[in-house]
Amino acid sequence: MRIPIDHESQTPLYQQIETYLRNMICSGQLAPGTRLPATRQLARDLGINRITVETAYAELEADGLIFSRVGSGTYVLPSAALPPLLDSSPGAPWPLWQQALAADRAASRPAEPVALPADFLHPDPINFAGGVGDSHLFPVDDFARVIRAVTRRDGMAALDYGENSGYGPLRATIAKVLTSQGIAVRPENVLVTAGSQQALALVAQILLRPGDTVLVESPTYGVALDLFRTLRLQVVGIPLDERGMQVEKLEPLLQQHHPRLIYTIPNFQNPTGACLSSARRRQLIALADRYNVPILEDDFVGDLRYEGRAQPALKSLDPGGRVIYVSTFSKMLMPGLRVGFLVAEGPVYTNLLDCKSLTDLTTSSLLQRAVEAYVTVGRYQAHLRRSCQIYPRRRDAMLQAVQRHLPGVQVETPQGGLYLWLRLPDGRSSADLLPLAQAQGVIFAPGGSFFPNPAEGAPYLRLNFVTQRPDMIEEGIARLGRALNVLIATGGHHPQGS
Ligand code: PMP
Repeated sequence: MRIPIDHESQTPLYQQIETYLRNMICSGQLAPGTRLPATRQLARDLGINRITVETAYAELEADGLIFSRVGSGTYVLPSAALPPLLDSSPGAPWPLWQQALAADRAASRPAEPVALPADFLHPDPINFAGGVGDSHLFPVDDFARVIRAVTRRDGMAALDYGENSGYGPLRATIAKVLTSQGIAVRPENVLVTAGSQQALALVAQILLRPGDTVLVESPTYGVALDLFRTLRLQVVGIPLDERGMQVEKLEPLLQQHHPRLIYTIPNFQNPTGACLSSARRRQLIALADRYNVPILEDDFVGDLRYEGRAQPALKSLDPGGRVIYVSTFSKMLMPGLRVGFLVAEGPVYTNLLDCKSLTDLTTSSLLQRAVEAYVTVGRYQAHLRRSCQIYPRRRDAMLQAVQRHLPGVQVETPQGGLYLWLRLPDGRSSADLLPLAQAQGVIFAPGGSFFPNPAEGAPYLRLNFVTQRPDMIEEGIARLGRALNVLIATGGHHPQGS
C-alpha cells in the first residue's frame, strides 16, 4: 500500500497514516472486509518504525473502523448502520411540544396533495411544474472556471465570511446594472441575500407581526403565500387581469384591511405571466404612499423579456424609501447559487441587514465573488441573450400545442418569463386533472397553491414552457390533452362550476 507521507510536516507520521486510512475507509475506497497490510510490512514499505504504524492502527481500531484478529490480520469493519427512521405519523409518541408544532403547521397550511401509488405513475414523465430555467443551459463549465479563477485571485479572502451586507464589488455591480435599467441605486442600499426567498422572509420578519394583513395578487407565488401563512398573517388577495394587479380595486381594500405590506410581482408574474401596466404602476405607488403602506416588489425574472417594452420598475418610481425591491440570479442564471438581493433605503435597510446577519451572518463569499466575476466579464449578458433567443421559441411551441391538444382551454401569451397560465373549460378542476396527467406522463402545477383561497384556483394550472425542448413540449401537451379527455369522459367538475 502506498501512503503519501511527509517527513517535513508538523503532523506526526502516525496521524498522517491514520488520516489517510480513515478517509479511504469513510469514502468506501477501502471496502468492509478489506485486509490491511501487516504492520511490519507497511512499516517496511514506508521506511518507518513499526510502532508508528501500530499507533495509527490502534487509533482506527479505537474508533471502530478496523479490527485486528491475532494470527489472522487487520480488517476494515462495516460502517455503522444508520439509525432507523423514526415514525413521523400524527399518532407517533413524540414529546408534547413536538406534537404541538405539527398541529400548528397543519392549521396554518392547506393540506398537501396525496401522493399517487408508484404503479399508477408513468416511468418517464415530462415535467412542466418546475420554477426555474432549462438546466441544460446552465453555464456549468464557465462557472467552474470562474470559481477556480476567483479562488486563485483572492486566496483565503474568497473563503472568509466577508461583509454582512454582501461582497462590495458585487453590490457595486448590482447597483450599476440596476441604475442602467432606470433604478437609481447606490451599493450601500444593496443587501445580498441567500436567494430572493431569504429577502422575502427578512422583509416579512422585519415589517409584519402575527395577525397583520398583507395584500398580494391573487394568484401569486405559492411559497410567498406559505411564508405569510406560517408567520400567521392575514393574506388578502387583489384580483389580477392581463395587465397585472387590478389596482383600481386596491383602495377599498386598503381602507378595509389596513395592510402592513403590499407584495407584488409586476413583471411576468408567477404564476400568470402578466405584466403590470405602466399606468397601474404609477397608481399603485401613489396609493401605497397615500395609505403609508410599504411595497415589496419581487422582480424574479425581470430580465427574461422576449418582446415588448419594459415598464418602469416600481422602485424607479419610488420617491424614496417606499419600495423594497427584490431580485435573484436563480432564474436568469442558476438556482443553486442561492444569490439574490434586495434594495432598500432608510431605517428598514439597517433592520434588514441586522436580521440577515443574525440569521446566517452572510451569503457565501466564494459564490458572490464568482457571480460578480461572471457578470463583470459580460458572460451573464451573453447567457441572458441566449436564453432570450431559445425560450420564446419554446413558449410559441407550447402555445401552438395547447391550441392543438387542449381545445377550449384559455391562455394568454406572456411577453417573457417562464410560465403559461391555463384555464380549463367547463368547470374542470386541475387538481382532478393532475393524477390523470401523471398517469399519462406529464406533470404541471395545479392552480390552488397560488391563491390565498385555494378553492379559487380549481380551474387553473401553470405550465413552465422553458425547461423542455419543443419536441418534448409537443409530446407533453399531447399527453395532457389525453388526460383532459379522460377527465371529460369521466365527468370531473370542480364544485364552483366554471
Ligand atoms: N419569487 C418568485 C416569484 C419565485 O418564483 C421564486 C422561486 N420560485 C422566488 C422568489 C425565490 O427564488 P430564489 O430564492 O431562488 O431567488
